[in-house]
Amino acid sequence: MITVTLPDGSTKQVESGAPAKAVAEAISPRLADAALAAVVDGKVVDLAYPLHQDAKVQIVTNKSPEALEVYRHSTAHLLAAAVTNLFPGTQCGIGPPLDDGFYYDFVVERPFVPEDLEAIEKKMKDLAAQDFVFERQLWPRDRAIDFFKKRGEPLKVQLIEEKTAGQSEVSVYTIKDKETFVDFCVGPHVPSTGKLKAFKLTTTSNAYWKGDAKNQPMQRVYGTAFFSQKELDEHVTRLEEAKKRDHRKVGRELGLFAFHPWAPGAGFWTGKGATLYNTLADYMRGKLFPAGYQEVKTPIVYNKELWVTSGHWSHYRENMFLVKSADGDEMALKAMNCPGHYLLYSTEKHSYKEMPIRFHEQTPLHRNEASGVLGGLTRVRQFSQDDGHCFVMESQIASEVEALLRLIQGIYKDFGLEYTAKLSTRPEKFIGEVELWDRAEAALKEALDKSGQPYAINRGDGAFYGPKIDFDITDAIGRKWQCATIQLDYVAPERFDLKYVGADNAEHRPVVIHRAIFGSFERFIAILIEHFAGAFPMWLAPLQVIVLPIADRHLEYAAEVRALLDKAGLRATLDDRQEKVNYKIREAQLQKIPYMLVVGDREAADRAVAVRSRAKGDLGARPLDRFVTDALAEVTSKALS
Ligand SMILES: [Zn+2]
Ligand SMILES: [Zn+2]
Repeated sequence: MITVTLPDGSTKQVESGAPAKAVAEAISPRLADAALAAVVDGKVVDLAYPLHQDAKVQIVTNKSPEALEVYRHSTAHLLAAAVTNLFPGTQCGIGPPLDDGFYYDFVVERPFVPEDLEAIEKKMKDLAAQDFVFERQLWPRDRAIDFFKKRGEPLKVQLIEEKTAGQSEVSVYTIKDKETFVDFCVGPHVPSTGKLKAFKLTTTSNAYWKGDAKNQPMQRVYGTAFFSQKELDEHVTRLEEAKKRDHRKVGRELGLFAFHPWAPGAGFWTGKGATLYNTLADYMRGKLFPAGYQEVKTPIVYNKELWVTSGHWSHYRENMFLVKSADGDEMALKAMNCPGHYLLYSTEKHSYKEMPIRFHEQTPLHRNEASGVLGGLTRVRQFSQDDGHCFVMESQIASEVEALLRLIQGIYKDFGLEYTAKLSTRPEKFIGEVELWDRAEAALKEALDKSGQPYAINRGDGAFYGPKIDFDITDAIGRKWQCATIQLDYVAPERFDLKYVGADNAEHRPVVIHRAIFGSFERFIAILIEHFAGAFPMWLAPLQVIVLPIADRHLEYAAEVRALLDKAGLRATLDDRQEKVNYKIREAQLQKIPYMLVVGDREAADRAVAVRSRAKGDLGARPLDRFVTDALAEVTSKALS
């Protein structure tokens, strides 16, 4: 007998050689039924995995964080089994799980058409219903290579040769249907196809073996899988909603920004788009100035020496735009503000009395991304960040980070964004003393606890130069985006020889805190467009009010209304085209302008406006003064609807 230790610290005895599933059975029949895989001494394995020695065992059910990946990868095999069953002679590539599903690559005679996907999905359901066992077998390596060679699968042969060099045996899986599907894989998988309850094939695309366009062209089939039909349906609805909200589409419809092939990955902001951009920029200034930040401006182009000192020249050069000065010096456009801020800090002597010193900057940054990966505002070559660096004494870390956490909480609240935080701790490769890291991590924890911010811990995921806190925001349709970050840095102050004079009159090293809340403005705007589906709340809307005269004779009063709105500081426009007012309303509605003010004879006589809200429809006539007061109050309160 061997002893297994369960996550709660209790133990169970099982026969030596018993499968991991026996542990689930020893706990309860219900757990055995719900089990999908197991974690044995930290490794995710099949339920059939034999236990030969004492071990820590955890049973994976659909509640476990490891489960979805195993489930989706297993569904990818089901897809491959269905494809090879329906299209004999198809060669299989690889089939990994993804954040929102899975894919499998195939070499096929002709590209798949939508009817093929329907047939494949039907076949998958059929194979799932028959509840075939995912059986792992260890084959002698030669036999496996021979098998896949004979079956006309040179890609699998290549995979085996690359991934199992020096091994005598290789791991293959079968799904025991009548064609006996066999695939080279190390697993793990769910115990049988019957566990795969809810999946859907979503799309196909062209792919290449190993993602290299020089290699064999393949067809990639994408799918997604969830533990229940309800979750799957919700996901499909979310995908459709995401398509409708796509910032590239909405941005075009609202006329916010454009791109041109001569400046790939750099947005052209229209008047409306630039207004939105500047509204966010000014909003952030309004938050940071009272929090003790100085807005600074540092150069865009720097001599190579700076990048050598910062370490970017050796590690990051290919991501930067390199230029030559008139004197022939090698220069590079900045891809981040940090090194410039260190130079700025070093231009003066600093005393402990000034600390913390906080810089923030919104000037443009450039990253030399390959044009193939650019798309909309989420991946760009030119962007600006609400980038900031705080220079603090070690004793100030906890209070500074706590203040930052409160700032972040307030800002996300203004946008109605839900978020989660995670603390990433010392990685395997790190610089500095272990005690220093321990102190830094303790300071971050103290700040998180004091601010009341719930957080998860990502053990070992910190940067090599210090621990960090990252924030994921969740948008209106449940998607997560990584945005704010707070990173401690002990390395940069050394490299740039940053100093301050302490109370003891001696020189000390400050600690640098890199922090951003929006991240890049471009990406944050993309997130906001999709979060609000283009219907920005009043305080953010690039155009807040549109005045719509019913007939030409109302133009004079309409212009007066518009002028009054302008004077009050509202972003207003006047639609003076000779179109029917209903047509103008429809257009303004499509432009998602929060308020439409219709003016005719009666409004002109009463100095009133007939108010139409984008969200609530006709609100009736109101004195003009009262509309202005209400609208300004809505802007000031940052009401979200
Ligand atoms: Zn597999
Ligand atoms: Zn930085």
